[in-house]
Amino acid sequence: MSEQQQFDVVVIGAGPAGYHAAIRAAQLGLKTACIDAALGKDGQPALGGTCLRVGCIPSKALLDSSRQFWNMHHIFDQHGISFSNEKIDVGTMVGRKDKIVKQFTGGIAQLFKANKITTFYGFGQLQPGNVVVVKQHDGSTVELKGTNVIIAAGSDSIELPFAKFGEHIVDNVGALDFTEVPKRLGVIGAGVIGLELGSVWNRLGSQVTILEGLPNFLAAADGEVAKVAAREFKKQNLDIRLGCKVSNTEVKKDGVHVSYTDDKGATQELVVDKLLVAVGRRAATKNLLADGTGVKVNERGQIEVDEHCHTGVDGVWAVGDCVRGPMLAHKGFEEGIAVAELIAGLPGHVNFDTIPWVIYTEPEIAWVGKTEEQLKAEGIPYKAGSFPFAAVGRAVAMAEPAGFVKVLAHAETDTVLGMHLVGANVSELVHEGVLTMEFKGSADDLARICHAHPSLSEAVHDAAMAVHKRAIHKAN
Ligand SMILES: Cc1cc2nc3c(=O)[nH]c(=O)nc-3n(C[C@H](O)[C@H](O)[C@H](O)COP(=O)(O)OP(=O)(O)OC[C@H]3O[C@@H](n4cnc5c(N)ncnc54)[C@H](O)[C@@H]3O)c2cc1C
Repeated sequence: MSEQQQFDVVVIGAGPAGYHAAIRAAQLGLKTACIDAALGKDGQPALGGTCLRVGCIPSKALLDSSRQFWNMHHIFDQHGISFSNEKIDVGTMVGRKDKIVKQFTGGIAQLFKANKITTFYGFGQLQPGNVVVVKQHDGSTVELKGTNVIIAAGSDSIELPFAKFGEHIVDNVGALDFTEVPKRLGVIGAGVIGLELGSVWNRLGSQVTILEGLPNFLAAADGEVAKVAAREFKKQNLDIRLGCKVSNTEVKKDGVHVSYTDDKGATQELVVDKLLVAVGRRAATKNLLADGTGVKVNERGQIEVDEHCHTGVDGVWAVGDCVRGPMLAHKGFEEGIAVAELIAGLPGHVNFDTIPWVIYTEPEIAWVGKTEEQLKAEGIPYKAGSFPFAAVGRAVAMAEPAGFVKVLAHAETDTVLGMHLVGANVSELVHEGVLTMEFKGSADDLARICHAHPSLSEAVHDAAMAVHKRAIHKAN
């Protein structure tokens, strides 16, 4: 092993949380190193974590390609555009996705270089005393000592004991790389990943069946939003079966046989060509900590941290998917930045109350803040105003009239407590709610802000006005 190298900050993991932490630390003048073990499809080191390699970005690339194809079949005729013999070349579609991944993972390497961050490609293990031993891909070992160590190890897919990953049973990594459209695709789990990747292959012609163990669809979303989304997915022939508990799978000649108990307790079997297991992700903390570091890991494998992402061990922090909180890239971004700023003596913090959630299906689903169900359960008095995209000129002109925006405000103070959206481009519109809540704004504030016409954002404007029964474009 070569001589120990000393840094102000050593970051383990170059995913969204880790690369934000490393870049911000370097910006603040701290001598920073970042370690990442991941390799890309070409076998070369690829920075950017799950998000850039096999998560947010590649899934959105395929969602966009498949959406174009879906629109050709289902929407273009409304515009008077017709096609014949339309087909999808899966190789070109996946190749486009791979190019985007390479562009962005390479972009992180360039940003590290520009910020003078020392990058180590290999697996890092934290030892007592803020030392990190890195086993590099070339077989050599280096030892780094950080005045501060930020653990940003991320998460891995959960594998079910009766559905081991292989050629036919896959996680997100496999489902982003099918070489042809599976005739029948089974999905276990109607969460974000199951719905997004199920949508991709459904739009391209796969017969998609999603088995969800919970009795309610999208239990974390506002009830009305979930209802509209379920209705739209049904129209797209996405077969979502709730209350279905999968107990076994068997790969046979004619496909993967999936045994499950349905919502009435009856035993059922589904046969599919490919099975995507999307039952959640687990903190990637295996082999990460040597004995005696003092860093605590809970029963879910997450690193225990306080509200400042501090582990309780002097100079050791943890951020992103490997700690509590929503497994979202932008939550990791904010934690990474906050910790770097705290290390530099600045007042970094993350406001968990204003983290937006987005599901990139068609229509998109997004929300921030509390749902009506949560407000009722917590006994918080509120007023609701909603507005349908079917009454928004721009949405209708785009042939995207499905969905609505709902604004929830405190009944006495009018402070916005939540915004819930389902419809076209709501992944962008939700930020009106985020901003309003971050500035402790009211529904009246939002209602008095001028919104461009014609734009989808008018649905937010009218929904805010509807809180006080003064929406212009619908009866109140
Ligand atoms: C299909 C899919 C779609 C998604 N879409 C979205 C989306 O649209 N929006 C969104 O917000 N989130 C999305 N997510 C979730 C998002 O990808 C994660 O929340 C995010 O990547 C977490 O960031 P992170 O930095 O904590 O961890 P990761 O991105 O998992 O990165 C951790 C990195 O650390 C490396 N590492 C781990 N341990 C070590 C070690 N000991 N030594 C060296 N390196 C190590 C790993 O190789 C990895 O590169 C999606 C996830 C999936 C799977």
